[in-house]
Amino acid sequence: MSDRKEKGYRKLRRSKLGSVLVIYLIVSLCFNAFLAFLAHMFLQYVLEARIYSEYQAVSYMARMYEHKDSVEDIYALLDAEGRDYFIADRDWRIYHQSGKELSSGMGGQLRLSRIGQNVSLYEDKALRLLRHKNGTLSFDLKGFLTWVSQTGGLQRLADKGATLDIPFWIAANISGENKRIFGKAYFSIDAGDIVFAGAVGLTIAVMVLGLSVIIIYHIVGSIRQQRKMTNLFFMDDVTGERNWMWMQIKGEKLLRKRKNAKNHYVMLSVSFVKYRNFCMCHSIKEGEDVLTKVNRLLIKRLDKKDLCAHHSSASFAVLMKYKDEEELKKFLDDLLKDLEIVDAVHKFCFHIGVSLVSNDKEVGRWPFKYKIVEMEKDYNSACTARDTLSDMDHSAVVFFDEKLIEEQRWIEIVQENQQNALAQEEFVVFYQPKFDPRTDRLCGAEALIRWESPEYGFKGPDTIIPIFERNGFITEIDRYMIRRAARDQKEWVDRGLKCVPVSVNVSRAHFAENNLAEQIRDLVDAEKAPHELIEIELTESAFFDDKTALVNTIKKLKEYGFVVSMDDFGSGYSSLNSLKDMPLDVLKLDAEFFRGEGEEGRGEIVISEALQLAKKLHMRTVAEGVEVQEQVDFLAAKGCDMIQGYYYSKPLPKADYEQCMVAGVALNKKQRSNIKKMMSRSTGH
Ligand code: C2E
Ligand code: CA
Ligand code: CA
Repeated sequence: MSDRKEKGYRKLRRSKLGSVLVIYLIVSLCFNAFLAFLAHMFLQYVLEARIYSEYQAVSYMARMYEHKDSVEDIYALLDAEGRDYFIADRDWRIYHQSGKELSSGMGGQLRLSRIGQNVSLYEDKALRLLRHKNGTLSFDLKGFLTWVSQTGGLQRLADKGATLDIPFWIAANISGENKRIFGKAYFSIDAGDIVFAGAVGLTIAVMVLGLSVIIIYHIVGSIRQQRKMTNLFFMDDVTGERNWMWMQIKGEKLLRKRKNAKNHYVMLSVSFVKYRNFCMCHSIKEGEDVLTKVNRLLIKRLDKKDLCAHHSSASFAVLMKYKDEEELKKFLDDLLKDLEIVDAVHKFCFHIGVSLVSNDKEVGRWPFKYKIVEMEKDYNSACTARDTLSDMDHSAVVFFDEKLIEEQRWIEIVQENQQNALAQEEFVVFYQPKFDPRTDRLCGAEALIRWESPEYGFKGPDTIIPIFERNGFITEIDRYMIRRAARDQKEWVDRGLKCVPVSVNVSRAHFAENNLAEQIRDLVDAEKAPHELIEIELTESAFFDDKTALVNTIKKLKEYGFVVSMDDFGSGYSSLNSLKDMPLDVLKLDAEFFRGEGEEGRGEIVISEALQLAKKLHMRTVAEGVEVQEQVDFLAAKGCDMIQGYYYSKPLPKADYEQCMVAGVALNKKQRSNIKKMMSRSTGH
């Protein structure tokens, strides 16, 4: 996956949910803080109001005490107040007491904002309900509830409008004396308070609930939206199923998880061959419908955990588990059969490239070991394998192996170097002589290419010609070879050597050009070589193209004085029919005629009949790939005109072929070198 897409995907996964969660957190934090503040304010207000009025009463008693005339009178007056109280000094010496219960000695300060002063509060010894700590006041909720239930429960309390009194003690200073008056005070809660607190609590609960519902609704909404977007992100435009990016993410997870060698995985590259043709003949829409059907078929034929996705154009990627190779091969054969008839109306052709996913690439140390996953590389290998089938018109499966990479690299090298090699004349011409089997005399030769690369060494045509044929460079090569052969012939004529016609291969691709005959004529003329010394070999496969154009080209070539031959006759395509229309001069029997065992006598019958046929059509014959004496004898007896084969000679470098021309017969190495010496003595070189 490209870095850009991966970033986009991560962003998509994070963005929405992340921001909603952050917003939710911030909003709920603010809301809770607001509620806490409200509750605090409310409690503060209520508590303060109640405590303040009680403090006022005790403070009033202290004032009364301060203005006393006699101790007995003031105690009588204070007792008459009806409040439990006591007067004590700072050492807790009690001077007077009214009532039973006393406060606890642990007092605390509460600042009353109404009077801007600190007031000393103490717990009631019997009911320790009010606690104070560093100026804040709190209920002992547990004690409060126990106490409430003792008094008959909240319900009853509310019904009767009764008051709930929580006792505590307030101290007020008596001025002028080192004494304080401690009055028992009550924190009163009536039914109205409880209803009010309940109403406030309920309102808060409803608000919290409402807010939670809104937030949850938004979260669920954004998760849904995110799912939808993720689905869109992972949806293939053509098939509407999953796309390659999805497969990469899922596949990497899957492959990373595999634990032992039992889990074999394989990557497939499945391609609909000639998809573009199908679209041309029908429509793009119909083509895409077939691709959708292919995708669905793949999903159907795969296990639930296996993955597949449309990759590009007409190719699909599949990552699947398999047990062993035998079973896998069978599965793939069955799959191909199903794919061919994926559409009820048409029959299709599919190619499958297979790359077994390596299971042993692990890095790190235990317990942090993990498998290396290279999805793209595996898919690329499967594609590389599949590409090797590109010339095949029927469905096929091919497994990737390292040799393919080497081949691929070589193709790259050739393509990169072809122009330069041509410019530097690194392509050299070898000549394979042709001999008359009845006289053993030299009667022709074929010009064959070799690449003498300073960097990659000596390379035969099998390693370069198929590449040139595929990339179209072959037409350049053909022109080059015609030029070189014509130049050499001209040189040999000028040197007075006894020249024989040299044939040059003209590939099928060249026939697409409608002025081929003129091109060849001009090339030969540019080198000033006689036309009759150049023969043009057309491969059998060229006869499948535009017949009329081909016939015209052959006629023109013959008009210009060139010899025209059909190469590789009998190499696989039935070309008997083409012989009927083509005014050819020479028929070259393919080397295949002389290979293999065959049934007793049958091969000979075919060869002799082919020779007869050529004779009747007034064509001369060349037998290629002849290696043994018996074949030569047989061909001579059957009237074959020429033999081009290792029996007489392999393709020779120019200098060696010159020796052959001088002798006029086939020579071995020693003979060739003797002639070379002789010639250099006579010419002084
Ligand atoms: P081709 O045109 O059929 O050339 C004959 C091939 O058969 C040559 O292989 C030759 O070396 C080989 N051969 C001849 N006699 C024998 C024999 O007795 N035994 C065996 N085993 N092989 C024999 P080469 O030179 O490797 O060329 C291979 C093919 O490459 C040619 O087949 C031709 O199709 C192509 N090619 C070579 N040079 C050119 C060229 O300049 N242009 C084009 N278009 N194709 C070329
Ligand atoms: Ca040839
Ligand atoms: Ca041939």
